[in-house]
Amino acid sequence: MRHHYDDSPPPPESASAVSPDRRRFARRSTLAVAAAVLAPTALAGWVLVEVATGAGADDARPPRIVMPAAGATNASLTPPASPAPPASPAPSASPGTTPGTAAGNALAGKTVVIDPGHNTGNFKHTAEINKKVDIGTTTKECDATGTTTNSGYKEAEFTLDVARRLRPALEAKGLKVVFTHDGERPWGPCIDERARIGNEAKADAVVSIHADGVSEGSRGYHVILPAKVKGGAADTAPIVGPSRTLGERIAGNFARTTGSAPANYLGAGTGLVVRDDLGGLNLSTQPKVFVECGNMRDSKDAALLTSPEWRQKAAQGIADGIVGFLGG
Ligand code: ZN
Repeated sequence: MRHHYDDSPPPPESASAVSPDRRRFARRSTLAVAAAVLAPTALAGWVLVEVATGAGADDARPPRIVMPAAGATNASLTPPASPAPPASPAPSASPGTTPGTAAGNALAGKTVVIDPGHNTGNFKHTAEINKKVDIGTTTKECDATGTTTNSGYKEAEFTLDVARRLRPALEAKGLKVVFTHDGERPWGPCIDERARIGNEAKADAVVSIHADGVSEGSRGYHVILPAKVKGGAADTAPIVGPSRTLGERIAGNFARTTGSAPANYLGAGTGLVVRDDLGGLNLSTQPKVFVECGNMRDSKDAALLTSPEWRQKAAQGIADGIVGFLGG
């Protein structure tokens, strides 16, 4: 059910039933729990190391994914025997840091655009959201309804709730926060407008919040990074590098605050996926990623996604990743 995306193709049926990923997932979950008990900071570092070295070239799902290349020297998923230093500077994740400190100053004047994926009103405005818009490389539907849990909790409710929890966490660091919408519109905005809002705000970082809608048993989070594309108004070459850094920071912190594992159904256990088919990424001129927080159609993930306490942890992890990316 990945068609819930603004413009994603459905994956092959086999995408949710690949056993190697399952084995990796089970192993990584155990290791992650052990590491979390021993040293939360080391865990964040470990995830970042895994992201840098564990890019599996064998994972070609879903279609048109361009696998991570930066630093990918092999497909080993074996974690270090002892905690290793992070591949990049450790994120500043202390919730107690207040504006006005050295960290706060580094963030002064910076802007973050938060894009709550979809809109609860989209279900009643199918004609409007099905209208095609130009995303540079092709045309796509203006927006999509998003998925739901089996009990009817809408992805669009989830994304707006996480976004509203994210805002005060970022503002507490002295960042300016702009939303693409805040539940005030009957539908949309369209994906080209969502991108334009980030561009016109000259955002230092843009994060689109989502949850996936695939089959039971597919679990975990992933962060979607822009592929290098060029066509029409789309030219992502300048943002591919910084967007990857932003995505790695968010993935590592999201794992730390939520305890969730990287998706077990795509991304080869890295929690990172590169895509060239999302208008919201193709049209962005600012560093931007999508965060897929979990799978709404999996009963265990749904129990997390419907928990306000878990959503607060998710928002904190995303905020910490953004703050770390921006030098705070
Ligand atoms: Zn979505």
